[in-house]
Amino acid sequence: MMSYIKLFFINIFGYYELWMIWLSIFIIAAFIITIVLVLNRDEEYKKFNSVFLYNVIWKWKYKKNSIISLWCYCPECGSELMCDDEYCRSAIMLTNKTTFLICQKCGEIEKSRIVGGDRNYLLRMVRLEIQKRIRNGTYKDETKK
Ligand SMILES: [Zn+2]
Repeated sequence: MMSYIKLFFINIFGYYELWMIWLSIFIIAAFIITIVLVLNRDEEYKKFNSVFLYNVIWKWKYKKNSIISLWCYCPECGSELMCDDEYCRSAIMLTNKTTFLICQKCGEIEKSRIVGGDRNYLLRMVRLEIQKRIRNGTYKDETKK
């Protein structure tokens, strides 16, 4: 093994000295550490998977880089919330469009009320808010809590 390494250096530089091996090890190690750091930095935001918005808890998962299974949960008991946006279909005025988030476990109590659109509108808003926090790095304060 050692003689192959020596031959390798002699072939390239015409001579061999021990420091060449140490320098090579150093360069390779630095290269590997850099790659690991870059990969970890990309993955770091994936620890951010819940946030408190509109008075309820939102949880989601990541598939590659996109946010999936985004839904809201009760801040009191933690169970999945019901979403009532029936009212949006009949309302013509945007300010009349309201989505209610209801917890059945807490006794059909309204946990949140979002004015301006239906459940798709609400999910889009939350998704945008999550993406914004990932982009500007404020999600880090959220994951520390
Ligand atoms: Zn509840």
